[in-house]
Amino acid sequence: MHAMVLKALRGPLQWTELPDQAPGPGQIRVRVGACGVCRTDLHVVDGELPAPRVPIVPGHEIIGRVDAFGPGVQGLVPGQRVGIPWLGHTCGSCAYCRMQSENLCDRPGFTGYTQDGGYATAAVADARFAFPLGEQGSDESLAPLLCAGLIGWRALRIAGDGKRLGLYGFGAAAHILAQVAQRQGRSVFAFTRPGDQGTQDFARSLGAAWAGGSDEMPPGLLDAAIIFAPVGGLVPVALKAVRKGGRVVCAGIHMSDIPGFPYSMLWEERALLSVANLTRQDGLEFLALAPRIGIVTKTVRYPLRQANEALADLRAGRFEGAAVLVP
Ligand SMILES: [Zn+2]
Ligand SMILES: [Zn+2]
Repeated sequence: MHAMVLKALRGPLQWTELPDQAPGPGQIRVRVGACGVCRTDLHVVDGELPAPRVPIVPGHEIIGRVDAFGPGVQGLVPGQRVGIPWLGHTCGSCAYCRMQSENLCDRPGFTGYTQDGGYATAAVADARFAFPLGEQGSDESLAPLLCAGLIGWRALRIAGDGKRLGLYGFGAAAHILAQVAQRQGRSVFAFTRPGDQGTQDFARSLGAAWAGGSDEMPPGLLDAAIIFAPVGGLVPVALKAVRKGGRVVCAGIHMSDIPGFPYSMLWEERALLSVANLTRQDGLEFLALAPRIGIVTKTVRYPLRQANEALADLRAGRFEGAAVLVP
């Protein structure tokens, strides 16, 4: 197999030939058909997450087909298409696992962070955390659902039922979530980097009621806002844009420091929350919902060997939608 391996923090990733790995007990091996590029991959490469590990193969939006089984795997057949998400493993016994909050597990494993991921031609995963997929949709179009879609879905539920929803950072996650939210009868207000007309047009083309720079106030206060951009300075900005009792949800795994702000911005029962990881239940719900509401992902395809270019383009905001690596 081949993989793009992070051998030293801050990269670049290196094209590397590796021996084919045999799946262990409870594991499957898949031939990767596509792997989405997530902002979290940038945080992994940059060493911004706790306990960075190298060497590592990044990538946690994997669509592939099972080609080998370890002992004890049940319910999957050879050639079955599966999705492998960020949550790679949980302990099953800590207090969080026992209270249906496995996203907060004390001893978790994460695909492409603590265990090798999908920037590769093959990947090994714990079968219990892989999602069986049908045959509808291309591998490339489904890959962004595995994290951008799933984490967005979890963030949307935590944001509550408000009708006027702000999305700060209109990339892979927001472009999927905008479709879900509108299908639920909500209005979407899209905030981009100031002056980024291209992305604002993209948001309008997906039905956003309003699109503007993050330095602008929306026309009227919002019921809730979700922040996808890794910019702590957006927290007070979003708090200012939500009504009394409104919610601001931080959906990324990493953010620059949040600047101080007066208590009056949080007062009147505004709430500030974060979203961490996903549960398998989130995945089952969202992957069943996505085809029903006909989510269309906008993807930009890169050959696997150009993973460094894909990451650089994501960092610079050079494309709309989601980057996907294809072996
Ligand atoms: Zn646990
Ligand atoms: Zn991700």
